[in-house]
Amino acid sequence: MNISANNPNLKSWVTVPANSDFPIQNLPFGIFSEGANDKRVGVALGDKIIDLYQLASFGYLNNTSFSASDFEQDTLNAMMLKGKAANRILRNRISEIFEESNDELKKNEQHVAQILSNQKDCELHLPVQIGDYTDFYSSEQHAYNVGCMFRDPNNALLPNWKHIPVGYHGRSSSIVVSGTPFHRPMGQLKPSPEEDPIFAPCRLLDFELEMAFITFQGKPLGERISTEEADEYIFGMTLFNDWSARDIQKWEYIPLGPFLAKNFASHMSPWIVTLDALEPFRTSGPVQDPKVLPYLEYKGDKHIDINIEMGIQPEGTSETVVTKSNYKHMYWNMNQQLAHHSVNGCNINCGDTMASGTISGPTEGSYGSMLEISWAGSKSVKMADGTERKFIQDNDTVIMRGYSEKDGVRVGFGEVSAKVLPAK
Ligand code: CA
Repeated sequence: MNISANNPNLKSWVTVPANSDFPIQNLPFGIFSEGANDKRVGVALGDKIIDLYQLASFGYLNNTSFSASDFEQDTLNAMMLKGKAANRILRNRISEIFEESNDELKKNEQHVAQILSNQKDCELHLPVQIGDYTDFYSSEQHAYNVGCMFRDPNNALLPNWKHIPVGYHGRSSSIVVSGTPFHRPMGQLKPSPEEDPIFAPCRLLDFELEMAFITFQGKPLGERISTEEADEYIFGMTLFNDWSARDIQKWEYIPLGPFLAKNFASHMSPWIVTLDALEPFRTSGPVQDPKVLPYLEYKGDKHIDINIEMGIQPEGTSETVVTKSNYKHMYWNMNQQLAHHSVNGCNINCGDTMASGTISGPTEGSYGSMLEISWAGSKSVKMADGTERKFIQDNDTVIMRGYSEKDGVRVGFGEVSAKVLPAK
């Protein structure tokens, strides 16, 4: 089926500011509320939000599989349960209604007033009910950097790394939407090999520059999803800051891996950009050597060119961007991750969230964590206000942004930001 909504020549009768992340070619989905109104499904267009509940109530979505009740929801799950094809028709139809030559809604001022809200007047909420959260470790440069710091530059990658998209099961309860402040975690630290462990606030709080993808309902337990089928099971993507307490992690992770160092907060951006909207930005991935097992082989361009950056804003001052990377630097793509995740028959549910792992580019200015930027705390980064950072300090706000751009069309994710409060 044609993704007519992706036509780069489309313009909307809704004014879209230059450089907006949300032109008519994007149409990302989220959950919003305005004033005392209930939460609803919305679509971002320029500085506006399209209220899909109202759009459906007035009959504009009659020829789709959706009714108004699908959009009077606290999450996108009811909508996503209708699957890829139905959601593609929905996005194509929304594009048609808001395309500049289409008068059907444009001329009805009363309907327009009820259907469009200003983003600045609305609150955005966590867009999905996340069942399970999985975090991969799929950037080669990141795995290499960590291996160099903690092991040996000659054997930086562990023997399994180029054969398996390494990952672990995380925790979904502490995934929160952009703008949710959180307290620096407390935990067990072991400051030196000679001392006993102590209970104290984390000293090495770090961000992880990641992207996450959100799934449609997968196959039943016992079935697997192939790399070729994977696109049909992926709804869309968000920016993802997977906070990490490096000192808690260092002491706790042997032998079973990350636990309390990773589950105190992860921040997700509020708008889910559909995989359909990202199709024009597909690009080739790295040559995988050694050759992967047949179930991990894939055809075509399955990586995506998404510029991502992270900034730190100390309280009361301006922000300093500390890294710029790109999602295309991934060694393993989403299709391989999903195929691997289900190859043993593990079932995937609607709303499952799978993060990429920290995305580090090949150069120093493109590393995806303070652990790498400060090279395990051996050097600091200067902020615009003259202070320095090796890790994240109390009252810092950390802000991630991302967008794809091609043929004059910019499809962006907005931002995910979070303020770190002192430990409780
Ligand atoms: Ca992570």
